[in-house]
Amino acid sequence: MDYQKLANLLFPNVTATPEDMENRYPPRKLPEGAKVTRMAPSPTGFMHLGNLFGAITDERLAHQSGGIFMLRIEDTDKKREVENGVETIISVFKKFGLNFDEGALADGEFGDYGPYRQRQRADIYHVFAKKLVEEGKAYPCFCTEEELSSMREQQEAKGVNTGYYGEWAMWRGRPMEDIEAALAEGKAWVLRFYSEGNPEKYIHLTDLVKGKIDMPENDQDIVLLKSDGIPTYHFAHVCDDHFMRTTHVIRGEEWISSVPKHIALFKACGYRAPKYAHTPQVMKIDEETGAKRKLSKRKDPEAAVSYFVEQGYPKESVIEYIMTLLNSNFEDWRRANPTEDCWKFPFNLKKMSVSGCLFDMAKLNDVSKNVISLMSADKVYADVAAWAEKYDKEFYDIFTADPARSTAIVNIDRENPKPRKDIAKWSEVRNYVAYFFPELYKPDFTLPENISRSDAAAIVEKYLGEFSLADDKDQWFARIKGMCEPLGFTPNVKEYKKNPESYKGHVGDVSSVIRIALTSRRNTPDLYSIMALLGEDEIKARLGAALKAYTE
Ligand code: GLU
Repeated sequence: MDYQKLANLLFPNVTATPEDMENRYPPRKLPEGAKVTRMAPSPTGFMHLGNLFGAITDERLAHQSGGIFMLRIEDTDKKREVENGVETIISVFKKFGLNFDEGALADGEFGDYGPYRQRQRADIYHVFAKKLVEEGKAYPCFCTEEELSSMREQQEAKGVNTGYYGEWAMWRGRPMEDIEAALAEGKAWVLRFYSEGNPEKYIHLTDLVKGKIDMPENDQDIVLLKSDGIPTYHFAHVCDDHFMRTTHVIRGEEWISSVPKHIALFKACGYRAPKYAHTPQVMKIDEETGAKRKLSKRKDPEAAVSYFVEQGYPKESVIEYIMTLLNSNFEDWRRANPTEDCWKFPFNLKKMSVSGCLFDMAKLNDVSKNVISLMSADKVYADVAAWAEKYDKEFYDIFTADPARSTAIVNIDRENPKPRKDIAKWSEVRNYVAYFFPELYKPDFTLPENISRSDAAAIVEKYLGEFSLADDKDQWFARIKGMCEPLGFTPNVKEYKKNPESYKGHVGDVSSVIRIALTSRRNTPDLYSIMALLGEDEIKARLGAALKAYTE
């Protein structure tokens, strides 16, 4: 067979050579050990939580080693693409503070190893497709869908492996006349790889997460170019990661079974394969069955990264939580470095779970409460305002009407060595601060069972006559304690526990009544600070309303 002739017949317009491509994309000049990674999402408009796991891993490996982190858009499958799919991806990464050194932008790109959108890289793929044909390593296949499905039926009937391989590969080694005739008829063709693999032999892969893996060699004559000239994932991956000089491919473990194909292709093209790290899938415990299963795009809203943004989880919390899932020693590091920026953590692929990361919403909430508790009031104010502006406009208007007051509200029990850990996400703030705002406040003076309405009325009435915003915190508490005995309560909790029958209750009960009268809540942050922010008139109005409710 005259392969050169075949190559010219199939790719008459390709004049560039593999050397031209090597010159266009020279090896990168980076320090020893620098890793070049890439995030390579398809623009489907859906960002799975797993994509974010991968992106953080890519980013860490690159930036911890003084390397490069790229964004490549894998847009070869037009059917899966949605409008603004690329923008969605880019905005999510921006939101989470994952900075690319090179890659696609919403309207363009930056970097010397582009284009960073696969559909714009057709010329590169075609140079290599042509080269493989010239070397007898790829050939055109004119099979129709019907032929392929009838082949599959025959294979199934015979009980042999399905696919296009060995003796089943109908266009493998076909004479030039057949190819010329098919081309002359205008038949559609795909370019297939001429596989030399023997499935009885094994390839040995050292995956950076999974360790040593043996897999049978690939014997399938896989498609490299589809009939429209667009490459398949397999071929694009090989060409792109070679010419972008990627050193480490981090991708979901669903790709692991394709590695033998990729290794064979790298070899056929004469390139060195990158190192692979196949990251475990994100799992959850199914609420109904209690069984562990994959986080599903269809069933689980939390499979989408956008869910966390909409719910108002701060990016810091999401990243912190993902770090706990990605590296088994992250939590120990965190205990030793409680306030350190999580990007300072020495991320290590070796500490990654091999079997799957279990996503646990309750754990995320705990992590997030902790992260939020360590934020400054100014940051909380700004983040809540930014979230609410987009997702809860009514609350935004209320919350931002007096920024200084709202900042002071979120500062209660914050910026101290033992901050409260009440808020897990910004969407909870509306309810959390509701009693500060007349538009949101809903009075509810329900008492705990151990306190009677008449006692509550007496407490509220006394406090209404006595409270003073001029008190400092000690005076404020002394005043409440001082109210106890005349009302039949004791200021001393221990004393109450010793002789419960001698008292109606203790100072905690008295404070509870005041708290409920002022906020309609049994549990709030520091009441002294709350009162300062409510102000004299509002305190009087609320105590008056509670008194009325208890005496009616
Ligand atoms: N486009 C592929 C995906 O979204 C990329 C896999 C890879 O990183 O190579 O799964």
